Amino acid sequence: MSNRQFSRDKILAITARITLLITVILLATVIIKKVKYRDNAKSTDTTSNSDTALADSYSAPLNKYFFQVDTTDQQIGKTESIIEYQTNTCYGIHYPVLGDKTIDNILKTDVDITLSQFLEEFKDYVAVDENSRAYLSIEYNSYLVGDSIASVIYKIQYDSPTYTNPINKIHTHVFLLSTSEEITPERIFTGDYLDFFSKKTSDFLSSDSAYVDSLTSEKYKNNFTPAAENFKKFILTNEGLTLYFEPYKIASGELETISFTIPASELIPYMIFNPFEKVTVPQPSLPNFTVSPGSLTIDPSKPMIALTFDDGPDSKSTNRILDVLEANNAHATFFVVGSRLGSEPDTLIREYSLGCEIGSHSYSHKAFSTLKKKNIHKELANTNKLLKKIIGVKASLVRTPYGEKKKSILKNVKYPVILWDIDTEDWKTKNKKKIVKKVIGKVKDGDIIIMHDIYASTASAVEAIVPKLISEGYQLVTVSELLKSKGIKIKPGKAYYNGIGN
Ligand code: ZN
Repeated sequence: MSNRQFSRDKILAITARITLLITVILLATVIIKKVKYRDNAKSTDTTSNSDTALADSYSAPLNKYFFQVDTTDQQIGKTESIIEYQTNTCYGIHYPVLGDKTIDNILKTDVDITLSQFLEEFKDYVAVDENSRAYLSIEYNSYLVGDSIASVIYKIQYDSPTYTNPINKIHTHVFLLSTSEEITPERIFTGDYLDFFSKKTSDFLSSDSAYVDSLTSEKYKNNFTPAAENFKKFILTNEGLTLYFEPYKIASGELETISFTIPASELIPYMIFNPFEKVTVPQPSLPNFTVSPGSLTIDPSKPMIALTFDDGPDSKSTNRILDVLEANNAHATFFVVGSRLGSEPDTLIREYSLGCEIGSHSYSHKAFSTLKKKNIHKELANTNKLLKKIIGVKASLVRTPYGEKKKSILKNVKYPVILWDIDTEDWKTKNKKKIVKKVIGKVKDGDIIIMHDIYASTASAVEAIVPKLISEGYQLVTVSELLKSKGIKIKPGKAYYNGIGN
């Protein structure tokens, strides 16, 4: 053995001993900590100084995040949407942007993967007509717990005429805000928490006779034993911990996704810190406003057109459109998506205060053909609740998502449904020139034009379209102003395409 070889072996041996020593120290620290937490867990005093210090170390400065106008199910994040309709497929997706790069990347990646899986599944699917397309809907709820934890749940639904029932899935994400990490229960729970979760699941199942098989069948029982892999779908809210079990996991499939909540008070003894502290959630400020319709006086004898915008509001593109409307003393109608309102209150207020009309484009942009009557009403009621909160009035006109117009759907909507006779296809081309070409030289008195105010290319087109139409002598009015001026009386459950009466 050379000297060199000898000294290298010696160094390796010493390094190994040091590594072992460090490992032992680290392990001891972890064990001591765990014992300490377990002691805390047993003790009823959860407000000791060490706990407060521990909770402080998980606190995050909330001013860097986006918050929504107080809605129970969307508390944190700014809503982004992907809404498209192709020949064979349609999708309406909403996801939150929290204001933290690492977290936002995880949330967006989940949406991207889900969308590509949907497109892959239906890549050979051919819809026989526009009523038989395959649909994907992704909605989200987001919650803040104290100033340390944020939870996001995606509710995913696939539907197509080839399915007997829609397929529902849920994805959950829980983040520790201080470190931007996505966590599983073992990161924040300690002690016999798995036994506790298992016991609570069993208690929940025994409380309802629908789940009688769950308690006796091995295949279901195995999915709520005290094992970490059984409790991976969860969210934390200020109410407590909600556990989710996908269809067929702990009960028969037709019972769908099962969830129940363990109250916060029962969880604290099993947590490494108490996250359920009341904090003042920062709220987006609502500007005071008065409706100032400008000096637009409509002359019913002169030609008029109603520009309509779907899928917004969007602080960037919508405001560019409002700038042009304001500068040209013009009105338009915005069919807003409820799920976006909580994070865009000021854009909505500006639309309304400029004398524009606010219509409803549902809450989540789900195809109404996939919904039961009561869920259609819920979609419209949820949007109206937010409209009432932000601008003080509800929407009296509806544009159905994807422009669905089957008689059975119109009947269930219970509001007049406004469709269009000029389609700019702006969502498809996303090209300023092509959008302008669909309008200029094509429009006539009484037309209703559809555009989407979530695209920059649409805003650019509107900057060209509005001054041009006005120079051609058109009055740009809201849908209600158009129909009223043309003497058309509108009725619930009926569809309107223009002001010419067809
Ligand atoms: Zn739409």
